[in-house]
Amino acid sequence: MVISNAARSRLAAHDKQHIWHPFTQMQEYVEEKPLIIEKGNGCTLFDIDGNAYLDGVASLWTNVHGHRKAKLDNAVRDQLDRVAHTTLLGLSNVPAISLAEKLIAVAPRGLTRVFYSDNGSTAVEIALKMAFQYTRQCDGTNEKTGFITFRNAYHGDTIGSVSVGGIDLFHEKYSPLLFTAHKAESPYCYRCPFGLSPCACGLECLNRLEALMRARAREVCALVIEPLVQGAAGILVHPPGFLRKVRELCTRYDILMIADEVAVGFGKTGSMFACDVEDVAPDMMTLAKGISGGYLPLAATLTTEKIYSGFLGRYEEFKTFFHGHTYTGNPLACAAAIANLEVFEEERVLEHVREIARHMAERLESFRTLTHVGDVRRIGIMAGIELVADRASRRPFAPEEKVGHRVILEARRRGLIIRPLGNVIVLMPPLAISAEEIDRLCQITFDSIRAVTGP
Ligand SMILES: *Cc1c(COP(=O)(O)O)cnc(C)c1O
Repeated sequence: MVISNAARSRLAAHDKQHIWHPFTQMQEYVEEKPLIIEKGNGCTLFDIDGNAYLDGVASLWTNVHGHRKAKLDNAVRDQLDRVAHTTLLGLSNVPAISLAEKLIAVAPRGLTRVFYSDNGSTAVEIALKMAFQYTRQCDGTNEKTGFITFRNAYHGDTIGSVSVGGIDLFHEKYSPLLFTAHKAESPYCYRCPFGLSPCACGLECLNRLEALMRARAREVCALVIEPLVQGAAGILVHPPGFLRKVRELCTRYDILMIADEVAVGFGKTGSMFACDVEDVAPDMMTLAKGISGGYLPLAATLTTEKIYSGFLGRYEEFKTFFHGHTYTGNPLACAAAIANLEVFEEERVLEHVREIARHMAERLESFRTLTHVGDVRRIGIMAGIELVADRASRRPFAPEEKVGHRVILEARRRGLIIRPLGNVIVLMPPLAISAEEIDRLCQITFDSIRAVTGP
């Protein structure tokens, strides 16, 4: 189907007239030409004018095996021939059962129960409520009601997940609506909160975390963490051993550990889950984004038999977990997710990711030669390039300069879709990306940064 000129103008006009885009300053959005995607294939997206773009952020960190992956397309079509949606409230469905079994098989040890929802924020919201209710029902005290979280954390946009968030720009405005969470410093080594340098710091952040836990153990039920890397804060990669130590501390202070794998799950760090990298078994794990291969909205909160058992009883004891979303366990999304996991096995995807990640690491080295690149961070195929006004003092660019935004517009002109987080340029392609495409991704990003900030 070819879209006529008239239809294209109509789409652009109606987009500006009717759609309120997420995380977007609409006053400025309507001044620019909207990029309207019509179709995709592999790691490439095509707009309604027929221009091709490399999908450099995997359609916001979701896409895994590329667009139009035959196996996933067919899985959704086959399910469509059976039924599109039925409820999981008191009933079950075939794909939801098969997927639960497959998730448990690949999840860190001890996780045996799957609670479905449809996005990352709700997966976190569910983990918070589960931890809270479990502790109330099983702990014998009503005092352990709080949470420990990290500065720079991002766990989603609902009020509960914002309460455990730590990005002031996104979260501060809502503070009167939020419950309090005790914030530990995040291991943002480029801007160490203690002014220490990575090799000589002795992981002071962990000492402080332990002090916080010791002080608050009697009033908190759970700690929430993005394992290995804080994504939305700008791909802040944590020092090796940090996650493992957090697990040890949670056990020592009897605090449930919630690993939010919404961003990092499904291969992005080079392992199926980030927890696997440090052999960590959390008490709960949240999954979304890549779970359906980037096809359909789906999320899951996984937990242990112990926590699950804390909700068992006769109906009139009211220990039930009174939570559920209408589209919970949607069969189409579950069918896509099953096919997603099958491709991981059939095509040795994790091996490919490790290989491609090494290649990406080599390509990213040259970025350090650019005057305004302050830091280059990477784990697996997640990379963050932090742009600074002054490298010596690490002074950030002023927000009104919109440096990140200008870089991504340059990239767009060169055939690459990326999205910045403030002044951090994020690269997070689909796992299926080829070495040649990595070269193009890095070259265009390099050229775009140079075009905006100089050599
Ligand atoms: C994206 C993200 C979320 C929120 O997921 P949504 O599907 O956008 O609600 C939660 N946690 C982490 C770590 C994320 O990256």
